[in-house]
Amino acid sequence: MGIVKCVGILTSGGDAPGMNAAIRAVTRAAIYNGLQVKGIYRGYKGLITDEIVEFKSQNVSNIIQLGGTILKTARCKEFTTPEGRKVAYEAMQRHGIDALVVIGGDGSLTGARIFAQEHNVPCIGLPGTIDNDLYGTDTTIGYDTALNTILDAVDKIRDTATSHDRLFFVEVMGRDAGFLALNGAIASGAEAAIIPEFNTEVDQLEELIKSGFRKSKNSSIVLVAESELTGGAMHYAERVKNEHPQYDVRVTILGHVQRGGSPTAHDRILASRLGAAAIDAIMEDQRNVMIGIENDEIVYVPFSKAIKNDKPIKRELVNVLRTLSI
Ligand code: ADP
Repeated sequence: MGIVKCVGILTSGGDAPGMNAAIRAVTRAAIYNGLQVKGIYRGYKGLITDEIVEFKSQNVSNIIQLGGTILKTARCKEFTTPEGRKVAYEAMQRHGIDALVVIGGDGSLTGARIFAQEHNVPCIGLPGTIDNDLYGTDTTIGYDTALNTILDAVDKIRDTATSHDRLFFVEVMGRDAGFLALNGAIASGAEAAIIPEFNTEVDQLEELIKSGFRKSKNSSIVLVAESELTGGAMHYAERVKNEHPQYDVRVTILGHVQRGGSPTAHDRILASRLGAAAIDAIMEDQRNVMIGIENDEIVYVPFSKAIKNDKPIKRELVNVLRTLSI
């Protein structure tokens, strides 16, 4: 017990609003518990290139409201090789870092899991991704903020869609997960969402057309999750042009605007709770778990479970969208 004296913290992979709130929480909770903190810049890359500095409480002042990540983030190919991870481990040893908190998505936690096994290093993961695609937590850091950015955009698109009686396909992020598209559609009052989870089940466009989605409306907004599985918004616009030329169709791809902005209250509170819990977990000698919140309770989820299991989309949400968009 109590063997950890110094915690390293890094953000990795895709950035997400709320990562700064998590960095602040981990740093302050660690210092509160008598631990030293080292900030590692540019994710795993900074471990390999030795971009590591000591963090005091003031290093994380005034950042809770900032989007992005003050630690920067990166994708690092070298870390996917045993040689690269060995260099990273040696840097940790040189700096006296004996536990690592990794804030990132699926890929970053996969890296943490492998690193932890290979070098017997305690690693704690925090779910940081706008995609919400990590199993074992109700939401991930950044998801709520991205959802609110989508709402803001769709509200504006609706004005022009209505004025011209147009059908809009709005492409949102999410990689292979449809949470942003589905909940974005419910919250913005869109007519439908096309999501990768249902790609193999039905032709979602045909279902949409057959449902007579324009019976009572002249304009429509359909959110499409970016994904190779769905083919994205352009793919559906092309299909409508060819198969249903009566519709006046347009496409908006929201893109990286979804990653930015000041985190919402939900994301700040989530990040603060998860960050504090990461240090609690280290103090309890937990290792190689992701911290999540399920049903408003902190949970420790083994990396293998968080990464390997697909987080299911609730059918109830799909039904709500269908029912309310008549
Ligand atoms: P995210 O964490 O947002 O899912 P990525 O999938 O790009 O982002 O992963 C971020 C980084 O995590 C990668 O650049 C790499 O350094 C590390 N990583 C991802 N997968 C692995 C793996 N299988 N083995 C080791 N490191 C990995």
